[in-house]
Amino acid sequence: MDFLHTALQQLEQENLYRRLVDYTPQDAVHADIEDRQYLMMAANNYLGLTHHPAVRQAAAAASLTYGTGSGGSRLTTGNHLFYRQLELQLAAFKGTEAALVFNTGYMANVGTISALAEQGDVIFSDELNHASIIDGCRLSRAKAVVYGHSNMDQLASLLTNTPCSGRRFIITDGVFSMDGDIARLADIVQLAQKANAFVMVDDAHATGVIGPGGRGTAAHFGLEGQVHISMGTLSKSLGSEGGYVAGSQLLIDYLVNKARSFIFSTALAPATVAAALAALNHLSAKPDMVEKLAANAQYLRTELNMAGFDTCGSTTAIVPVLVGDAALTVEFARLLRDEGILVSAIRPPTVPVGSSRLRITVSAAHSQVELTEASKAICTIGRRLGVI
Ligand SMILES: *Cc1c(COP(=O)(O)O)cnc(C)c1O
Repeated sequence: MDFLHTALQQLEQENLYRRLVDYTPQDAVHADIEDRQYLMMAANNYLGLTHHPAVRQAAAAASLTYGTGSGGSRLTTGNHLFYRQLELQLAAFKGTEAALVFNTGYMANVGTISALAEQGDVIFSDELNHASIIDGCRLSRAKAVVYGHSNMDQLASLLTNTPCSGRRFIITDGVFSMDGDIARLADIVQLAQKANAFVMVDDAHATGVIGPGGRGTAAHFGLEGQVHISMGTLSKSLGSEGGYVAGSQLLIDYLVNKARSFIFSTALAPATVAAALAALNHLSAKPDMVEKLAANAQYLRTELNMAGFDTCGSTTAIVPVLVGDAALTVEFARLLRDEGILVSAIRPPTVPVGSSRLRITVSAAHSQVELTEASKAICTIGRRLGVI
């Protein structure tokens, strides 16, 4: 299988080779690598709930009481009561009639999009949408029409000019995962109404992050009830694993019957579902966590902007630092790691060629002192490397 070797060699030459780094998490924002402790700024654990005592307690109790695995898919084996509770809470949180939990956010997007759209339909998709949306579009066999990032004029013209014999969908990330900016949902909803299109929003990085109480993008814009398909994850702010779709009861009934990633996969472990439920309850009880997160992110972003970094229009907990060159981005991340700070170096194909960047994520669990130290290290290394 020489072609494998050739392909990997090419990645290496382009500075795009990826490696796994072993680590041991210590708490929500610290991890050890080979006996040294690092500040974690590369996780999507925006509220630090992976390590909240009530959330851990719920997961531990669920394992002890109900065992470690679910034993089968929800339709064939049985639907754990925790699922029923979690989906009711998610629907209430999102202001929809119903919700459905999938095993991952990836599976929620792939399963939902491929169940809803079919040949003859057209999906209008932002060019920076997450890979799981792109894969869902491919699997659906609908025609995918990509519009420039948040380019509403282009979206309007494509909606008018693209022939379509079936249904139209507009799908967007709510908060874009590599840029940290927010979709122009008010415009999208308006264009969708005019064009008779359905709107799907991926709130993976918006849940627990934007909108009142962290309710996501539609709530942020006061557009609850205007998004037909509201997707999100349990794996980021909610500190567990899984994805969800919230919407009408009709939509959820349809997905239970048609979404293959839901039907043909073993249910999540009771501990995973219990953790998500406890996290959601905690978020509802303590919505001020969301404000703390926003203040932390704003603090770091302001420091970096004042130093001259381009943070790609971010307004959320994802703070990119644009570098451009892939090799330089990897070097930047490596030097930060030497300083005890873990950030992701994001390169193509995750982002367009020439827009490699550090992707820094802020958590409500970071202290002011940690953010100040991180910002100083980023500025010092950025100057040394000529990024600013
Ligand atoms: C992380 C992410 C997903 C996938 O969610 P997982 O639970 O990690 O599978 C989907 N969409 C976006 C925008 C994401 O950032």
